[in-house]
This record gives sequence, C-alpha cells and structure tokens, in this order.
Amino acid sequence: MISSILKFENSEAFAKQLDADDELAKFRQEFFMPTRESIAMKIERQSEPAQPPGEPCIYLAGNSLGLQPKSTRRYIDEELVDWANLGVEGHWNARHPWLPYHEFLTEMSARIVGAKPLEVVVMNTLTVNLHLMMVSFYRPTKERYKILIESGAFPSDQYAVASQAALHGYKRNEAVLELTPRAGEDILRTEDILNTIERQGDRIALILLGNVNYLTGQAFNVQAIVEKAHEKGCSVGLNLAHGAGNLLLQLHDWNVDFAVWCNYKYLNSGPGSLAGCFVHERHAREFDLPRLAGWWGHNKETRFKMGPDFDPLPGAEGWQLSNPPIFQLAALRASLELFDRAGMKNLRNKGDLFTGYLEFLLNDMPGGFLKIITPSDPAERGSQLSIRFSSNPKQMLEAFKEEGVICDFREPDIIRATPIPLYNSFLDVYRFAAIIRRFATK
Ligand SMILES: *Cc1c(COP(=O)(O)O)cnc(C)c1O
Repeated sequence: MISSILKFENSEAFAKQLDADDELAKFRQEFFMPTRESIAMKIERQSEPAQPPGEPCIYLAGNSLGLQPKSTRRYIDEELVDWANLGVEGHWNARHPWLPYHEFLTEMSARIVGAKPLEVVVMNTLTVNLHLMMVSFYRPTKERYKILIESGAFPSDQYAVASQAALHGYKRNEAVLELTPRAGEDILRTEDILNTIERQGDRIALILLGNVNYLTGQAFNVQAIVEKAHEKGCSVGLNLAHGAGNLLLQLHDWNVDFAVWCNYKYLNSGPGSLAGCFVHERHAREFDLPRLAGWWGHNKETRFKMGPDFDPLPGAEGWQLSNPPIFQLAALRASLELFDRAGMKNLRNKGDLFTGYLEFLLNDMPGGFLKIITPSDPAERGSQLSIRFSSNPKQMLEAFKEEGVICDFREPDIIRATPIPLYNSFLDVYRFAAIIRRFATK
C-alpha cells in the first residue's frame, strides 16, 4: 500500500506535493465548498447555488453531510423542466422516465456496496429501510429472539431495534444484547465479537452492526462475523451509514443478509435524501418472507392492473413501498456518477493515504495531548479519525470555527475528522493538524 512505503513529512510543502501528485484532485472542483465568509453568513445569500466568495473551509464533516456536487442542480432542473413540459406524461416520456427512474441508480449503487443489481434498490430513508428489513429478517422464536448490536449504537438504530422487539412482545432488556469493549478499551476486538456469537448465538435471531462505528470509526471484519453468525444460525444486517462510499464493500461475497445506508453522508445526495437497501440474492425469491408491502414493490407487468393481490418483485425492489421522489433520485444520480468516474478503489486508496497522513501529523505532537481512538490498522478503518482530547475540546472547536474548520464534536470529548477523497486536499489535512498543534504546544 502506498501509505506504508511513503515517508510522510510534517510540512506544508510536502502536503502540496501530495496534492500535485493526486490524480483525484480534479474532483474537488466538481463540488461547491462552503467558505469562511459563507459559513459566517457574511455574504448575500444567492438564490442559485454558486461557489461562494472567499477562502474554502477545511470541511471535514463529509461523514455527517456530504457537499453539493455542482452537477446536482442541473440534474434536478432537468426533472423540473420535464414536469413543466410533460405533466403526468413524464412518467414515460421524460428524458429519464420517472416510472423506472430508480433503476438508473441501481448499477451504480451496486458498485458502491459490492452487490449484484438484483440485490440493491434506492428507496425511503435509512431508518425506514432498517424497519422494513427487520420485519422480514428479525423473526424471533421462543428459543431464538435476541438482537445483537454494538453498545452505544447510533440512537435511531437503538430505538428501531427496541421497538421491533416490542412488536414481538419483548422488552428491550430481554431481547437486545450489546457488544461492549473491554474495560479501558474504546474499540471492540473481533475475537470478542466472535466469542459472543459462539457463546450466545443459539439465542440470537439477528446481528445488526454498523460496518463502521459512527463514533469510533472502527470498521469491523464483516466476513468473519457473518461466517460465524451463519454457522450459529443468526441473520446479519449491516447499517452502512458510515461505510457506503467510504470503504470497499463486498456485501454479496460476504454473504450479508441485508444492509441499509443513507446517501447523504459520504454519498453527497443532499440533506435527508433517499437511502439504499441491500437484500442478498439468496433471499431474492423468498416470497413467503413476511414483509410490509406497497405498490412499487409489485410486479411491474401488472402493477397498473391495480389488483388486490400483492405479487412482489424478486430482489431488493420487492421491498419498495411508494413511487419515489424523483428530485431526490436525480440528486443522487449526479453524485453517484462522480463516484463511478473516480472509482471506489481509487477513492479508498486516497482515503487511506489521507487518514494515514492525518494520523502521522497528529502523532507528531506532544504526548498526552490527544489520543486517536480509531484503530491504526487501515483494514480496520475508513476515512474517519476520532480524536479524544485531554484538555477542553470545546475551546478547540471555537478555534476551528474561527479558522474555517468544520468537523464534528460528540460529547464529552471526541472530535471526528473525516477527509473525503472526492473533495478534500492534503493541504486541508495539513492545515487542520497545524491548528491542533498550536493548542498542543501552547
Ligand atoms: C446517520 C445515521 C443514521 C441516520 O438515520 P436516518 O434515518 O437517515 O435519519 C442512522 N444510523 C446510523 C448508524 C447513522 O450513522
């Protein structure tokens, strides 16, 4: 891997050289970058999106909300124009007909998560998809009714899991089992996860993990977990909110039962935009799986016959409920095309270099000032580094704001910084670390 043969240097000139050598650097200009002035709301708000004047922020929050591709506007405008010109006829005659519009995203989404087209669909939002999947894949019995999750999982996941258990008559503490790091440790050890499954698997109906933990940035060894889980008869679902568009994923080959993800974090589809859903091919024709049904999941040939009997489509499409919001699909199409042009492998390589460089710079500071809690092994992380600070991190956040750094703070003391391969630069990474260094050496 490049990052291991490359000797990093703590200098602005070195960061600039990395940018000059970076074949993906050209993608930065495909995005609107908020600037210090625009964030401080010191400029006139424009009715049309345009690159705001001033110096671009050091935007390290793409794991919370990805930036806007410049092409997004054009893609949405196309649908507005076709709607104006065609009305309902747009379902068939729009340049990208609305009836099959979600299909234009299927292959690109499949490439992002390492799936077959049959296995993925863009629909709803993340938590909705999580519920739809649990209706089908959390089928508790008297002996096997537990759901295994990470302790401190994202709150929406915790609520979803507890409410699904309640639907089957179980209290949260009866059904929900949590994986906790060892005392004094921040991240889970794979061996501990596997041991838990080995010991308790007979009682576990479903294992639901973020493939990257949103707080620690730890990426799990999904393949090993799925293997062990299936050996014990448990289903495995993944929440890829922090994995899709970040890590190289092989959902099909890993044999994951289902996965859900949002597209507005790494995948830049816009606030609250549509989510993705994966159902493994081996479940594609299990039509007797209980599911919540809607007309968009019905056989396309007979959908408009409007009959009373639900005839589900094979694959992930069979879980669709409603006809989808076209403007949101258009926004996602704009972004996924950028991923296709850049290539997920290239993006991950650059991401590893970014994370490695940031780690190098952070470690090149007086000891004890900060601790990186994200694993140092590139196989166990993506683009995010979670950093714990010994002294008041809120003060540092203030300084960040003044310097135009945008990153994410989680109580009580963790800052998450995520250099995004599509639009961040090595200079961003260098400048971010330089600001922290000023505090460390104060
Ligand atoms: C971002 C995120 C969510 C958000 O759910 P929405 O339904 O999109 O609001 C849920 N779970 C995880 C792990 C997340 O990171």
